[in-house]
Parts: sequence; C-alpha cells; structure tokens
Amino acid sequence: MNVPLLDLKRGFEGIEGEIREAIEGVLDSQRFILGPQVKEFEEEVASYSGTKYAVGVASGSDALLLALRALGVGPGDEVITTSFSFFATAGSISRAGAMPVFVDIDPETFNLDPALIEAKITERTKAILPVHLFGQCADMDPILELASKHNLTVVEDAAQAIGSEYKGRRAGSMGNLGCFSFFPSKNLGGFGDGGMVTMDDEGLAEKVGILRKHGGRSEYHHSMIGYNSRLDTLQAAILQVKLKYLDGWSKKRQENAGYYDQALKGIDGVKTPKDMGFGRHIYNQYTLRAKRRDELKAWFKAKGMGCKIYYPLPLTLQDCYRFLGYREGDMPQAERAAQEVISIPIFPELSLEEREEVVRVIRDFYEGGAAVSS
Ligand SMILES: *Cc1c(COP(=O)(O)O)cnc(C)c1O
Repeated sequence: MNVPLLDLKRGFEGIEGEIREAIEGVLDSQRFILGPQVKEFEEEVASYSGTKYAVGVASGSDALLLALRALGVGPGDEVITTSFSFFATAGSISRAGAMPVFVDIDPETFNLDPALIEAKITERTKAILPVHLFGQCADMDPILELASKHNLTVVEDAAQAIGSEYKGRRAGSMGNLGCFSFFPSKNLGGFGDGGMVTMDDEGLAEKVGILRKHGGRSEYHHSMIGYNSRLDTLQAAILQVKLKYLDGWSKKRQENAGYYDQALKGIDGVKTPKDMGFGRHIYNQYTLRAKRRDELKAWFKAKGMGCKIYYPLPLTLQDCYRFLGYREGDMPQAERAAQEVISIPIFPELSLEEREEVVRVIRDFYEGGAAVSS
C-alpha cells in the first residue's frame, strides 16, 4: 500500500461542486483584483482568529514582510526569531532590510525557546518573530512579557497554525500582527499562493492595506514604497468555501495524531511530538524524532510511503546567511532537530488502514531487524 504524505485531491473531491460554483462566481463578475470576496474572506478570517482586522496579501511570506514594514522595521533594525523554521521566516526579515537574530529552540516543541531571547536583545532590536511550528503555538506568555518589558513589537508567524490556540487565544491574535499562509499544503490551502495579516490595531490594518497596493493610499499617490501583494479574488472565493470545513479537518488531524501517539509509543527508536497542552494543536505536521533518521527515510521511500524532513538545515547554517557569522554548534537544539526529525502523513482524509500501514512500516524498521546496516 502506498500512502502519500499529503493528498490534496481527497479534500477537494468532497467540496468540488461548491468550489467550482465559487470560481464561476468570480468568472462571471470578472472582478479579479480585490473583489468583494476578498473583503468577505478577510472578515471571516479576522473573526475566526479573534482579531478586529485582517488584510489579504499574496503569500505567507509577504504577510510577514508587510507586517514588519507596517511596524516600521527596516535597515539597522534587528528582529529576534527562531533558528528552526521554513526559510521565509528569516527571509522576510532580510527583505524588510533588517537583520535576523536567531535563537535556539525548545527541544520538546521545536519552537523558539523564550528563555534564550532576552540575552539577544540590543538597542537595535525592534521585534520578536515567533513561529507556531507544525501547528502548535509557541510559548507566547513569556514572549509577550519580554516584548512589553523591552518595548518591542511581536509578529506571529502563524503560517502553519490557523485555528491553533494558546491558553484560550487563537494564533495570530496575540502579537501586534499575525501572519497566515494559504499555500496549498497548509491546513487552509488555496489553489496557489495567498496570505493574510491579522491585527487589532486599525492603523496597522490601514498600513498593510496600503503596502499591498504599492504604498498608495489613493491611486497614484504613494506615501510608502510598497508592493504588488494582494490576495487574488479567485483564491479568496475558494478559501471562503474551505474555511467552513477547517475545524472538521483540524479535528481529523488531531484524531490521526492521537492514533499515532498511542501506536508509536512503545517503539524504541522514535519519539512522538509533545502536545504542551496550551490549547488546540492543529498538526500541520506530525513530526517525529527518529534514530537512524536518514535510513528510516530511505525505508519509507522504498515502501512507497510519504514522508518529509522539515527542516534539514537550521536557518543559521544556510549559505545565504553565512555573512551573519553563525557557526555549527551555535544552535545545538535546532541542529540536533535537523538531524532527527521526520514528518509522516497526517492529512485529514488519511484512512484507518493507511495509518496502520504507516505504523507497521516504522515498527518493521526498528523491530523487524530491517535495515540493520552500520
Ligand atoms: C509556509 C510558511 C511560510 C510562507 O508562506 P508562503 O505562503 O509559502 O509564502 C512562512 N513561514 C512558515 C513557518 C511557513 O510554514
């Protein structure tokens, strides 16, 4: 049996009629740029995330960039963030003209370790950018406390965490701004790129709204040097349909995670991810730590099983950041995670048989005497 890491077709099949209707509606109107569906969807995401405002943008990466720009982050500024995330987290800081300052992660959650932040704060620090990695919120209370103590702003990278909760608050509603991605593999995925910035502050909402259309409050009059970064009407119309199903899908991901937690518990060789009990974990990924990880990955591949390494290299060791001067050993936990992590199929439509097969393949690897090389 082959089990894919993610099968978008299955999610689509259940709602195909509704989606086609939504697309037809946009085609009929021909209002492709900031059509009414964008505003409606912004209101829906704001309400879903527990914020007053939300502004649709072209991608999750741009959501981060526009959020930082709206806060006035730019050249000469430093932004403290995690060393273990998708590249766009750090790339957006650089694109804003600022310098990313990396901290190591908490090995239990793969999220930025709040205890390591204060030592990195300088007079140039403007913001802290925590990531809610794999669908579980970073430990936000100590981060928000530090930010308020040092007069810093907080931008949440909630690209993998729409609907995730922390002590009763939703991802994207705790910092000054929250950033979401609708890349197809996220829990709420569009049919292409898309993103959203959430906030309670009206001034910030206005700024992000201006930045996404070239920095102009009125057409051809530019108060800021902005971008072409709007959420397409077509994507908004599609995402409006999908948002209605998101809670059900998140629940299924949690059920799959619960199954794996139990079924993999006794296998010596893998460590299941820890749910910190902060609130709802939406499992964008189910990420194990595995002994002989690269061999296990090859074993998965040989068995026709989907898996992926998120992420094989910490941000501090990326070629493009060599100029920052970080070295191997600077981020021991992130570096160890990069060697040990492997994400397995967790998507909502995964069948019982498929889940069992994934577990069987892992069990065979560690207990069946398989692949006893080296
Ligand atoms: C996906 C992702 C992004 C970027 O989102 P895009 O929509 O692909 O630009 C940023 N940060 C994290 C943590 C992500 O997973």
